[in-house]
Formats: sequence, structure tokens, C-alpha cells
Amino acid sequence: MGLKVCKFGGTSMASGSTISEVAKIVNADKERRYVVVSAPGKRFSGDVKVTDLLYACSDAVEAGDEAEFFKVFDKIRVRFLNIQTEIGKDLGLEAALSEVEENILKGAGRDYAASRGEYFAAKIMAAVLDVPFVDATEFVRFDEQGVLKQEETFALGEKVLSAYTRAVIPGFYGLGADGKVATFSRGGGDISGSIVARSVSASLYENWTDVSGFYVCDPRIVNSPKWIPELTYQELRELSYMGANVLHSESIFPVRSAGIPIRICNTFRPEDSGTYIVKHSTRDMREYVVTGIAGKKGFTSITLEKSLMNGEVGFVGKVLSVIGKHGISFEHLPSGIDTMSLVIDNVYLPEGTLETLLQEIKEVAQPDKIYTHENISLVATVGHGMAKNVGTSARLFKALSDAGINVNMIDQGSSELNIIVGVENDDCADCIQAIYREFFN
Ligand code: ASP
Repeated sequence: MGLKVCKFGGTSMASGSTISEVAKIVNADKERRYVVVSAPGKRFSGDVKVTDLLYACSDAVEAGDEAEFFKVFDKIRVRFLNIQTEIGKDLGLEAALSEVEENILKGAGRDYAASRGEYFAAKIMAAVLDVPFVDATEFVRFDEQGVLKQEETFALGEKVLSAYTRAVIPGFYGLGADGKVATFSRGGGDISGSIVARSVSASLYENWTDVSGFYVCDPRIVNSPKWIPELTYQELRELSYMGANVLHSESIFPVRSAGIPIRICNTFRPEDSGTYIVKHSTRDMREYVVTGIAGKKGFTSITLEKSLMNGEVGFVGKVLSVIGKHGISFEHLPSGIDTMSLVIDNVYLPEGTLETLLQEIKEVAQPDKIYTHENISLVATVGHGMAKNVGTSARLFKALSDAGINVNMIDQGSSELNIIVGVENDDCADCIQAIYREFFN
């Protein structure tokens, strides 16, 4: 196997002792040549992630609360200085931290503040491994909207990183269109790892975290669920979008087109084989009908009924123009001959917005009936095997009806990769358990 890119998450970088574990892992395989790191995360439950502290500093500056700023920044200083002591190397962090403190206080911005956790983590890791530090601002580029400029980033990444046989790179940030530091959304270090893997044409992208891969469903919902040895990029996208949060849902894009597999591994159980994320499944589809089940709470559905809707050209367009005008995107659009529903994430529906939408939709589309279901959860059952096995949806819906769960929306993706049901928020866990029992017990 050729060269590998390893990305280590916040719990792996949380303290001097976890950083030593990381170093052991990297040094155990000479193909692990490029290392991407997150900011130090939680050391114990109740601990605060460095990134959260940095956001709190930036909030304090915005609120003009200097006392709060210094108090929170001190916690960051103590964490990094403790790590410096633990690893037994003087990296001059004290002076560098003071410079960052001053920059944030002078208004360097929210993204700059948030990025410094990864910056210092990478400096530390580079010193521990005795490998060059390469800043992500040298090649990760965002456009005016904060969207990753993929092609430019991959090309620059290839150029910059080819000058190094080994490197440590901070995750989570790059350079915005205004020339200032810009970040991905939370957990975006996974995307950075993927970008580096793509830029150096890695044979494997190892994502080291604190779990041994993906489970069929959330272990907080089903006791000791089965582990998934292999997922496809598509299955991963569906599951992580729906709340399986082992990996950032956008992190597959850089590696997917190059066909680079991802391996999820556990820093604290490095001997576990983890979960492989690949282009084409090698699993026996007759055995694995369903790959995973994930659920997400907090959606609202708007259902419209109108006689002869099917013959009314432009009906759906009129409805969508209303939500588009309000800058709202929808998650699903299940439809029947004379009915259609729009499922919208509640984050798009602050106080009063739903009423406004209903009013405007009534005006433009004149439905016979319009009604809503608030507080619904979406539960996705995902797996390439579903298309190959007759009767999968019958089994799923029988399991839900046997468990007394009322389904108020059904959407089956056209690739037959998933079946999504909408249920009351209170039924979300029961729904996942019922589907798990049917397909895995
Ligand atoms: N440190 C960032 C966060 O906490 C990014 C990451 O860890 O991937 O969201």
C-alpha cells in the first residue's frame, strides 16, 4: 500500500499523553507521511474543547467584555502551556499565544480566532514528530461565499505539499477570498484531511478518532449495535447527513472522485480494524440488506392537497418559489397524484416564518387543503442491499406498525439507497430500535 494521510481529531490531540499515542501511531507505519490535526478537544466529560473556548473569546470581544475575554483566553493559554510541558519541548508557545491574544482582541475576527486551536496543535505535533509544519493557508482556498474552491485547492495542495516528503498540517481552516483566515463548519478538520489525501494522491485516508468506526446505529439508542466493517461513499453521505456524526458529511467529496478509500480508526484502540469507506461495496448484499440507520430531530412538513394537482403545470414550481424567496432549502419533497409535502429543517423556521410561508403558498398555489406537522424526526434506513432484496420496505413498515409507530411521511430515494420516514420526535428512538430489531436481531 502507498502513502497514507492521517487525520487526528480533538480527543486524540487533547493532552500531552494522547499526543504521544498519536506519535506512536504515526511512527508505526512509514507510509503515514502527512498528518492533519484538530484542536485539542475534551480530555474528560464536562471538559471544554479549545475551539469552543476560542469562539467564546471572539464572542467576548464582540460584546466588548474584555474581562471575560482575558478569563477565557487564560484557559486556552494554560491548556497549551500544559501540553508544552508534558511533551517536554520548549516551542516558544508563550510568546506566540500572547501574539494571538492581541490579534483577537484587536478584532482579527471569528474565523481567525477559531483557527488558532488547530494552528497550535499542528505546531506541537510537528515538533513531536520532528516533521515540517505546513500551514493550511498555503493551499486551502474559499470563495466569497465561504465555499471551498475545490480545483484550486487540490492544484495548490499538490504543488505545495509535493515539496515535502512528510508534513503536519492544521485542519479546519484555509484562506478566504478576502485574504483572511476562513474556516469550514464545525468538525471541518475531516474535510481538510480529505483535501490533503487528494492533493498528495494518497492510497488511504485514515481518520483517527475516539470510536472504532461506524455502528449500524447510535449506541445511545440501541445497546451495543453491530459494527459496520465497510460503507460506500454514498451510504456514508446519507448516514452522516442524517446525524451519524463520526465524520463530517462533506469530507468524502475530495477523496471520492479520486477513489481514495477512508478508514475510520480509533486512536485509543489502534489494533481495531475500523470502518472502511469505499467506492464500491464488496459486501454480500444478500446478507447485508441494510447498512445503517440514522435519525435526526427537528423538522416540519407542509402538506398540500389539490384535486388534479398532477395536471396543473407549474404547481410545484409556484410552491418552491415561495420558500426559495425566503432563502429556505427543503430536505425532502415526497409527492402523490394530488398531494405534495415539503419537509423543512426547523433551523429555517424561526418564530413567525411558518405562518408567513403558509399564507404565501395559499396565495400563489391555491391548494384545497394545507396543513403542517411540526416537530417531526426523519429516520433514514440506508443500504445498497435494499435495491437487491425484494420486500425490504414491507419488512420495514410492518416493523414500524408492529411497534405502534405512526409514520407521517415516506420518501424513498430514487437510487433505492435509502428509505426515509417522518415520525413524531418522541417516536424517533423507538423507530430506530424497531428497524434495528427487524434487520439485525
Ligand atoms: N476544531 C474544530 C471543531 O471543534 C474542527 C474539527 O475538530 O474538525 O469543530
